[in-house]
Amino acid sequence: MKTKDILRPKCLMGRTLGHSNTGHILPCCWVDDDRIKRHELGSRLLHPDLSIENNDTIEDILLSDTWVEWDDMLRNNPEKAPSLCWDYCGAERDSH
Ligand code: SF4
Repeated sequence: MKTKDILRPKCLMGRTLGHSNTGHILPCCWVDDDRIKRHELGSRLLHPDLSIENNDTIEDILLSDTWVEWDDMLRNNPEKAPSLCWDYCGAERDSH
């Protein structure tokens, strides 16, 4: 069986943001999934402090510590990314 051994986050390639029915911006529409709530860092994206109504601008959310940490995880520690990220953005190292 082929395994996915590299993460190619589409959200870091200019893909558009998503949003949840809780009023939060999300890195993509795929993470609007209960599995994100079971991931320690992912669940923090849904903290009330990061809701759209509790921020003046989208940039305030995207530049928050949690979002910066999320971005850093995908870039530098992809093994810590939630399983759903691997489902949607995982690839075999030699694939294109
Ligand atoms: S599934 Fe994860 S890695 Fe893929 S685009 Fe969405 S947030 Fe980024």
